[in-house]
This record gives sequence, C-alpha cells and structure tokens, in this order.
Amino acid sequence: MTAAKVPATPVIAEHRDDWLVCPDCGALQATEPLQQAQQLVCTNCDRVLNFGRGPWLDTTTALAVAALILFIGANAFTFFTLQLGSVTQPATILSGVGALMDREQWILAALVLVTIFLLPMLEVAALLYLLLPYRFNRRLPGQIFVLRWLERVQHWIMQDVFLLGVLVTTVKLGDSATVHLGPGMPLFFLLVGLLQAGYWVMDKQNLWNWLHASNCFSRDPNENLYDCDICKAMVGESIVMERGHCPRCNTRIHTRIPDSLQKTSALILASIVLYIPANLYPIMHYDELATSYNSTIWSGVVDLAANDLWLIAIVVFVASMVVPILKLMMLIFLVWSIQARMTGATRLRFWMYRTTKFIGRWSMVDVYVVTLLTAVVQFGLIGQVEPGAALLPFAAVVVLTMLAAENFDPRLIWDNAAENDPAEARVRTLAQLNTVNLTRE
Ligand SMILES: [Zn+2]
Ligand SMILES: [Zn+2]
Repeated sequence: MTAAKVPATPVIAEHRDDWLVCPDCGALQATEPLQQAQQLVCTNCDRVLNFGRGPWLDTTTALAVAALILFIGANAFTFFTLQLGSVTQPATILSGVGALMDREQWILAALVLVTIFLLPMLEVAALLYLLLPYRFNRRLPGQIFVLRWLERVQHWIMQDVFLLGVLVTTVKLGDSATVHLGPGMPLFFLLVGLLQAGYWVMDKQNLWNWLHASNCFSRDPNENLYDCDICKAMVGESIVMERGHCPRCNTRIHTRIPDSLQKTSALILASIVLYIPANLYPIMHYDELATSYNSTIWSGVVDLAANDLWLIAIVVFVASMVVPILKLMMLIFLVWSIQARMTGATRLRFWMYRTTKFIGRWSMVDVYVVTLLTAVVQFGLIGQVEPGAALLPFAAVVVLTMLAAENFDPRLIWDNAAENDPAEARVRTLAQLNTVNLTRE
C-alpha cells in the first residue's frame, strides 16, 4: 500500500507592522506606531519591545562614520604613559594583548583581542556596510548575514568594560607612580559612547524590513506563532517544525532552546569549579626590589581599600566578587525554579534573568586591569607585574556564566505559569489576536 502524497500548504508570507512576539516571554501582541520618546512595553513581562527613534538613519550613520575615525585615532595614540623616575612605559589599547602574547598566554590574549579590538572593528565596518547602502536603497550581498551577526555578537563587545578597566588601572597606578594621560584615552571614551548610542538608535526592525519585507510566515491563522530571536519575524509552528530555520534571516528557531536546563546547569557547574582556583590562586604577582607579592582578587580589593582608593576598591569588589556570585546564585535559582515547577514570582524571576544577562560582562574588568598592569608595570627591579595563575580560570568563569545565561530559555519561566493559569497562556495565534483586536474596537 502506498501512502498518498499530501501537498504541503504553501507558506503565506506577509508584512505585519501591527503585531510582534515578545522575545522574552513569547506573548504575541498588537503594536502601534510610536512617536519619539514613546515606548512599547510587553503587557505580560514588562520588557521594552520598541521605542520611538526619530530620524534614526541620519543619527546612526553620522555616529558610525565618527566611530570609524575615532577607532583609528584611539588605536594610533597612546592611552597613558606611566612614569617611574626617569623611566616611562606607554600603553595603547593593544599593549595588554602584546604582553599576554609575550608570556604565551594565548587564550587570554585572544579573549582580550577579540572583545576590545576585533569585534568593535567589525562592528563599525558592519554598521557602515548596512547603513550607507540603505541610504541609497542598494542591497549588497551578505547584508542579512551581517545584520544577524551584529545582533548576535553585541554582548561580547566589551569596550565599555575595558574603559572601566583603564580607569581602574590609572587610578591604581596614580597612587605610586606618575600617570600621563595620552590622546588615545579621550578618543576611546568618545568611541565607546558613540558606538553604543549608534547601535541603540539604529532601527533594527526597519533594516530587517528593508532587507526582507515579510515578517510573518504562516500556513494557518490558527497555528501557534513563534518568534525569531534575531530578526523578530513571526513564524508559524508548522514551519518551525518543518524547516527549523527562520525564513527571513535563516537563524535556527526553537519553540524552546533545546536542553536549555541541562546546558545551563552544566555551564553553572563548570563555573563553580573554576571559581575556586580563580579565588584561591593569585591573579597577579608584583615584584619589587627582589621581593615578590602575590595578589588574589580579594587581597587586591583589601590593598586598594588600605590605600584609601575606596571607590576603585568598591568597583573591583562588586565586579569581580559580587557579580559572579550573584550571577551564579540567580542562575541556580532560575534553573531550580523551573525544575520545581514554580508558578509564582514570574516577574521577579524574569527580572533576575535580565539582570544576569546585563551584569555578566562587567566581571571582565579585573582581567583587563591585570593585562594593562602587566603591559605597563615593567620596570625591572623597581617594580614588575606578572599575571597570576588565577587569571585564566577567572576569565573562564566570566565567559562560562555569560554562556549559561545565554542558554537559559526565559520562556520556561512562563510555561509553568501557563500550566496552572490558562489566562496567562502566551503562545497565541493570529486568529486569536484578530479577535482581541476586534473586541478592542
Ligand atoms: Zn514579554
Ligand atoms: Zn529571523
């Protein structure tokens, strides 16, 4: 007996400006055109979904062009010069990378190079590759890939964290030596501000709609809709099951991140294991007149406080000690709450998830401080800094906890709530939304 072939229903692709799926909780909701300074907030989880941007294209293009010039300037000039007696040591953005490579710390050197130089450089190039052709309505090959990459990589561009690291380093050094600020520092300061502002103002949805007008792909108005994490297209369940990829930007779409809890738990466990050597071993060695001092993360904070550098002590304490522990505790609680099928405190848990994602990268501060110190404090007998055994496990803790947060699927929080309270069910269909709209009018 042969099974009759059922022809697949063609995909209906359309442009829906008036509907949007919340990426954090999966609620499908009606949207409205926004005026400048207006915000659209998810009715279910309070996430800001969009905001009025005004003339974003002019602003972002100007910021991206300025960022290109600043990027060249900030890398060409010195950040600061350290003077001890008659000896001077200049530092540029990449000095720390060079110092790590000299010591054959390849993994750390690569991590610093990628997060403070390579990714920001590619970000500037990507912005220009998208914005300049958009002004002239010229589509170029690979733009969908470029925009997708830009959205994915945002968390890993850590110039702002590096800037904080530079400030901590100069204040720390200013206590015992003379620090002359170079022109690279203010240029870099501006660069960080302009790049962040540029990305923030850029209307990503508008660009996606320009690259591919359809943002809704469905076979049946009664099927559940899921959203693409990257381009925010709404994709019907049948297409998700069949293709697994977003028809607009080709990102993998999951109804839920596969094995989210297992992946998150494994990454949390690895972070906890590495957190022990990261705190037990010295993060750097300081040699002065044939005496060697070992500095762990904690003793570094104590030293700063002892020298009355309270503000810097608090910054390092919060970024290096409070943030990793807080992040791990919140992630453990989130995973446990899903496994225990907790139904309450959805908004609190959702806030925890967002906070974990936001604060994670700031722990990299200490890694940047140690690499900068290693680069500039090279005065032989008078004073010399070398990275310690804790630096690599500490950097690994930061990276692994960031990955743990990325692998946690926040929609799981709402799944349990929906089990007990059908009114909170969030995965809605276009047909249901139509009725909502009708009853509103
Ligand atoms: Zn939401
Ligand atoms: Zn997509």
